[in-house]
Amino acid sequence: MHYISTRGAPARLDFVEAMLSGLARDGGLYVPYSWPRLSPATIAGFAGRPYAEVAVEVIKPFVGSAIAEVDLARIAHEAYGSFRHPAVAPLVQLGDNLFVLELFHGPTLAFKDLAMQLVARLMDHVLKQRGERTTIVVATSGDTGGAAVEAFRGRDQVDVVALYPHGRISDVQRRMMTTPTDDNVHSIAVEGTFDDCQALVKAMFNHHAFRDRVRLSGVNSINWGRIVAQAVYYFTAAVALGAPHRRIAFTVPTGNFGDVYAGYVASKMGLPVDRLVVATNVNDILARTLATGDYETRQVVATSSPSMDIQVSSNFERLLYETCGRDAAKVNALMGSLAQSGRFSVPGEALKEMRTLFSADRADEQEVDAEIRAWMKEASYCADPHTAVALAVAEKETRDPKVPMVVLSTAHPAKFPDAVKAACGVEPGLPDWLSDLPNKAERFTVLPADQAKIEQFVASASRAARDGAGV
Ligand SMILES: *Cc1c(COP(=O)(O)O)cnc(C)c1O
Repeated sequence: MHYISTRGAPARLDFVEAMLSGLARDGGLYVPYSWPRLSPATIAGFAGRPYAEVAVEVIKPFVGSAIAEVDLARIAHEAYGSFRHPAVAPLVQLGDNLFVLELFHGPTLAFKDLAMQLVARLMDHVLKQRGERTTIVVATSGDTGGAAVEAFRGRDQVDVVALYPHGRISDVQRRMMTTPTDDNVHSIAVEGTFDDCQALVKAMFNHHAFRDRVRLSGVNSINWGRIVAQAVYYFTAAVALGAPHRRIAFTVPTGNFGDVYAGYVASKMGLPVDRLVVATNVNDILARTLATGDYETRQVVATSSPSMDIQVSSNFERLLYETCGRDAAKVNALMGSLAQSGRFSVPGEALKEMRTLFSADRADEQEVDAEIRAWMKEASYCADPHTAVALAVAEKETRDPKVPMVVLSTAHPAKFPDAVKAACGVEPGLPDWLSDLPNKAERFTVLPADQAKIEQFVASASRAARDGAGV
């Protein structure tokens, strides 16, 4: 199995190379050269099996010979052994053919753990084999940083630096980044916004001498390793509800289009996905695009679901590539237009094809609050604001009552206690095993949004840079 860029660069990478490099050199995203298919009998055979075993079956065709299957299996068992629910990603029924897929039982209470716990171990494993080290710098609006710090802490081959906007994330989110004591994880509170953090990371990647010196690598949501890991729970949920003998629909709270694109991957592999509903908050670029065909960025608005406050949904490029008949020249032209004028039009044929599988809608802040309140009252079910966006959108969707609708729940409500309390009056508590989080000592460095200063910090934290300097 090999990977190619959505913008046509001739390089062909294997799974490990695609995972370690993240973005392609031509600015494109890696996609598999062809889609592996799982037979209905294989999919039916997933019923009742442990999550980690299904993960191996779904991921293995994408890995090919790049990682030995015994290693993949061992790593998957370790990764999903860190979850606090025996099913890893349990389904909860809320109504007639309405289910919530809880993806927040990992160590940092957000769905990012499902991919990060696996990818961190895979990276450490292959770097060990190669005798190499890498430095990961990640910009976070909250959940990605904590998931990365938790997944990489204590690993020999990798140092992690998380950049978050000082004073702009929740206490729980910050503490998940700042309380681990391992020497290889570092947090920088940047005096600026999330956009500043992202711009700094991008600038470091474009500073090639620095990039090579610290062996910079990324684990943001365009990383192919994260996408394949996320395809797994579409299979486990669908099979639990009767697939492959029955079609299943999903509603996905969406920001960067990584999670819902993983549902598309599952459907390409042969899972009978009836519909993928893209749920956005008022930062609704994807809902507008599906409705009008115009992909047009606007100002980001802060909401109670901050992990979806995004105006450029990077992974959308992968769907665009697929629905443009894998025409890299066309994708290149559209992305050029986006960079120049902040917009492009999805070609008619591509839009038509997207609409056969995808729908999209948005929920505003009042709708989200009302949704949290209603589920608390009717079912004593406490949804976090991201999940509530998806629940609200799923209800607006006209759907076949015979087709099960699975709403992805991407965060534990205790990660956003203030927003949940404001909506329904109940303050969700942290699970027992995290109850000492508010009392732990924090460790972080406040820095201005200044590239030279941040690079200096990253270089001093990077063992790869020290190795390279011959120390
Ligand atoms: C990251 C995140 C999302 C958005 O996922 P994408 O893959 O970026 O679409 C939704 N909810 C939560 C809680 C998140 O952390």
